[in-house]
Amino acid sequence: MNRSQADKTKKRFIRPLPVQVVNKIAAGEVIERPSAVVKELVENAIDAGATQVDIIIEKSGAKLIKIIDNGCGISEEQLEIAFSRHATSKISVFDDLNTLYTYGFRGEALPSIASVSRMRMVTRDSVSTTGTEIIYEGGVLQSKEPMASQIGTTVEVENIFFNTPARRKFLKSEATETRHISRTAMALAIGRYDIGFSFTNNGKKIFSVPSGTSLSVRVAELLKKDGKFIPIEFKGEYVDLNGCIGLPDMAQHNRFGQFLFVNDRYVQSPVISHAFMAGYGELVPRGMFPIGALLLTVKTSDIDVNVHPGKTEVRLLFEREIHREVRHIVADSLKQDGIIPIFRSMGSNHSSIAGSSSHFSERSPFDKKPESGSRQNFIPGINNSQPLSPHDLDRLYNQKEIDPSRMQSPPINVDKETGEIIDSVVCSPIEGSKTPSDGFSLVGRFANLYLLLQSGENLYIVDQHTAHERVLYEETLDRIKNQSLHGQNLLFPVQIELSPEQLAVFEESLDMLNKSGFSVSEFGGRTVNIEAVPIVLAKKSPEKMFLKIIDDLASLRKAGCDLIKAMAQSIACRSAVMSGDKLTDQEAVHLIASLLNCRDKYSCPHGRPTFIKISKDDLDKQFGRG
Ligand code: ADP
Ligand code: MG
Repeated sequence: MNRSQADKTKKRFIRPLPVQVVNKIAAGEVIERPSAVVKELVENAIDAGATQVDIIIEKSGAKLIKIIDNGCGISEEQLEIAFSRHATSKISVFDDLNTLYTYGFRGEALPSIASVSRMRMVTRDSVSTTGTEIIYEGGVLQSKEPMASQIGTTVEVENIFFNTPARRKFLKSEATETRHISRTAMALAIGRYDIGFSFTNNGKKIFSVPSGTSLSVRVAELLKKDGKFIPIEFKGEYVDLNGCIGLPDMAQHNRFGQFLFVNDRYVQSPVISHAFMAGYGELVPRGMFPIGALLLTVKTSDIDVNVHPGKTEVRLLFEREIHREVRHIVADSLKQDGIIPIFRSMGSNHSSIAGSSSHFSERSPFDKKPESGSRQNFIPGINNSQPLSPHDLDRLYNQKEIDPSRMQSPPINVDKETGEIIDSVVCSPIEGSKTPSDGFSLVGRFANLYLLLQSGENLYIVDQHTAHERVLYEETLDRIKNQSLHGQNLLFPVQIELSPEQLAVFEESLDMLNKSGFSVSEFGGRTVNIEAVPIVLAKKSPEKMFLKIIDDLASLRKAGCDLIKAMAQSIACRSAVMSGDKLTDQEAVHLIASLLNCRDKYSCPHGRPTFIKISKDDLDKQFGRG
């Protein structure tokens, strides 16, 4: 008898699940990881009208998450109700959802968190003369007693997921969880820049920002103290935008420096993020991301607020229009600041009045393809920040034999949670290509980037940057392993202040950095001290190089790369010859010889090809000689 038959013969009882089970299941959705607890509790504090919120974390939240607020508090008789499921003070009828100005409304956070931790709350409202302490363990009430307290609420969550071992096991490394919490804390502090916040991790104050500041002050304080930011204030047709964006040269290799909000809620939105970047046009090279905060306000009827509260996704009704407005506002703000020279072609009837027009390409990923003839001077890839589509490539080259997917860089993976680009780390050898044998010779170069080699009947085109990266990567990896990567002492040690997220990466990689030729140490607060850098990087600015390496490590770790490989990859990439660096013939030949000695010669550590092969047969076919 199989299982389903067995089930059919059994008498089944249908009954409601015990409330603790329901809460535990809900916790699985609402509380994905410790950072979600921080988000829920801080949002409750903000909803309670707090002007100061302190976030205290120990062991990346696994040991303790403590949130202290000076909000309205909860009265003794309401306290247990607050911990019951779907109990909220924020809405009473469904239509309230459309005009909702609070973060929470589902009444799920307190019972969910209480069901998977030991949770203690001490709270006092303004009409009570004393406060109340309440303790839950695994969702079960342990005690409720009067306790002296200030007006406001303190919540302590200990041993999160202690009774859901599977979930506890799935927590990522302490560094990863701390990074998530740091980002959450920063997002909350930027989204509500009017409120004072502090964030303390393992006894160390990561940031403390006073109430009553402007967005620009808050963003600079949290993202880059000495950076110049451009404030944005704009009222559009579809969106009002309050923002603060960094100069183009502050762009980073990942999206960690971008904070996007819709109606006060921190969101991940590929659409808004793309519009933000497109506003910079060519000012920010591909693969780099401008930094700053954009706070959008849209009509509540134009946004779906009833999406899952734990997620940071957002559904916008007028995506395309909002994309266009945001892009124009960003571009215009940069122009007004004199950063983008205003260029007007003859006969153009565009005005340059702020807020109305943009001289950037009007194409967005949502716009239709221009009709033929309507925009004759439109050339794909020129003056256009969009990558070429396979269709465009086909139109440009019209080479049916060449698979367009081969012509593009590897697909870009975006982390759904952080919106960050994850480097593809998969190395795919070029099918059918053979290693050039020793009989190769350098026959030319192209565009100061490609080396042309001949071997027998085959032509090899080598990308000097990716080839060099591969060679350096393998060398660096070996040298880190046997600790022979030497550093060069700086004449004057430099101190750099890191963002909270960068600090989390730094702390995780401190040992590895010091084994890789750096000599770095903590200097107090978020400042680190650099005394030496790897010799291979010694020619470049130590501050810039160090920050790039930290950014690389963050992205690569996120993509699941080992720390040692991430370090080798970053150092290799940062020290490899670039396109445009002119190699002598000897250097070129030496590079190729070294590449051929590599364990994996076909691709750079990011998975981009180091060379492609074109056989004489292929060429003959192209020229109709076949
Ligand atoms: P929601 O926020 O969706 O209403 P929660 O479970 O997070 O649901 O909280 C339940 C209720 O408890 C809230 O509606 C609010 O009235 C009260 N509450 C929670 N946290 C606080 C706080 N820090 N200060 C004051 N009241 C709070
Ligand atoms: Mg809530």
